[in-house]
Formats: sequence, structure tokens, C-alpha cells
Amino acid sequence: MPFARLGLEPALLQAISDQNYQSPTPIQESVIPLILAGHDVLAGAQTGTGKTAGFTLPMLQMLAAAGSNPANKTPKALVLTPTRELALQVSEAINVYGKYLPIRSQAIVGGVNMAMQIRLLKQGVDIVIATPGRLLDHVQQRNVNLSNIEILVLDEADRMLDMGFLPEIKRVIALLPNQRQTLLFSATFSNAIQNIAQQWLKQPKHIQV
Ligand code: AMP
Repeated sequence: MPFARLGLEPALLQAISDQNYQSPTPIQESVIPLILAGHDVLAGAQTGTGKTAGFTLPMLQMLAAAGSNPANKTPKALVLTPTRELALQVSEAINVYGKYLPIRSQAIVGGVNMAMQIRLLKQGVDIVIATPGRLLDHVQQRNVNLSNIEILVLDEADRMLDMGFLPEIKRVIALLPNQRQTLLFSATFSNAIQNIAQQWLKQPKHIQV
């Protein structure tokens, strides 16, 4: 099946074609239409399946459709990842797939100068990709406001729980609007993951690849 059949717009199809992707991977074929339709999604997918494009492409499309307003300083989408390496990879993917769209994104990870991150956040951003601890540091210092988040992605949720981030994730989620779209990606589905999915996702569509 070609990417165009998934309902993606020309600016994204061009970026995909620049990457020489021939067709969507199975996870992309399943999740992209569901996400574009506004569903919450609970997806079982390992690294290497193309899951990153699976959530970043529809997320970029929905944000672009809503129109990026440079006057809007607060993020509309938040991607939480277990590690700074993964946050930077997701951030890079967003830059690659979103290169023809006026969407601003910023990775917020530990180990990087806070002042520089503050400067970038103050300029305004549509998507924040973050590890939970560093994000909470910025929230506490009022450098970022999460009250306009419309899309939350929990990437590699099982690893985030294994690394003990549950309390931080809970604190982040408490700051988000209830009315939002939540996408949870996890390689495994323990009871703990099913519990958080039950609490934080609304009538999710289940996908396993
Ligand atoms: P991920 O599972 O998201 O870490 O992606 C694994 C790799 O697959 C990345 O290097 C992507 O650039 C690549 N990739 C993602 N989607 C496709 C696709 N539809 N066709 C070919 N390669 C892809």
C-alpha cells in the first residue's frame, strides 16, 4: 500500500519520498489512519518497526492542519521518552518528516544547558520531546506550560516504567488537559502497562505488530 492511501498530506509525502521510503511498515499502516481519526492508541511495537514515523507523521499532520500560530508559545504535543538518546532520535525524526511544515519542535533532555533550553522554549514551540525529569524541572521553573497539550505520546512506556519514571509521568499527566489524544507505544504489555493504559487512555484502539 502506498503512503498516500493513509491520508497523509503532500508536504509529508514529499518528506517521506525524500527518505526513499517505498511503502509504510505494518505498524505505520495500522496506526497512522487511527491517529488521524483522533483515536487513542495502545500499540505493541519494538524498535526498528518504524514506530517513530508511525506517530510523528500523523502528529505533524494534525498540528499543521490546526495551523501553527507563531504567537502561540505553548506546546500542543508532548512526546515522553525513557532516555535522552531516544528523545533526540524522535526529535530528529520530527525534523526530517516535518521539514516542509511550519512546525516548531524542541527536545528537552537532561545533560544539556538549562539556559539554552529556556531560551528555545521562550521562543515558542509546537512539539516538546522530553525525558520526564528534565521536563518537570522546566515546569517547576515555569519555563513551559503544558495546559494546551492536545496529543501525548508515551514512547517505550515499558522502559519508562522499568527505569522508575512512573511518579514523574504521573506528575506530568496531572498537568495535561483531560481532553487530549493519548498514544502509548510499548514493546511489552505487563500488568503495570495495562493499568496505566486503563487510567490514561480513552477507549484505545489496540495494535500489535
Ligand atoms: P523506528 O522503529 O521508528 O526506530 O524506525 C526504524 C528505522 O526504520 C528508522 O531508521 C527509519 O528511518 C526507518 N523507517 C521508518 N519507516 C520506514 C519505511 N516506511 N520504509 C523504510 N524505512 C523506514
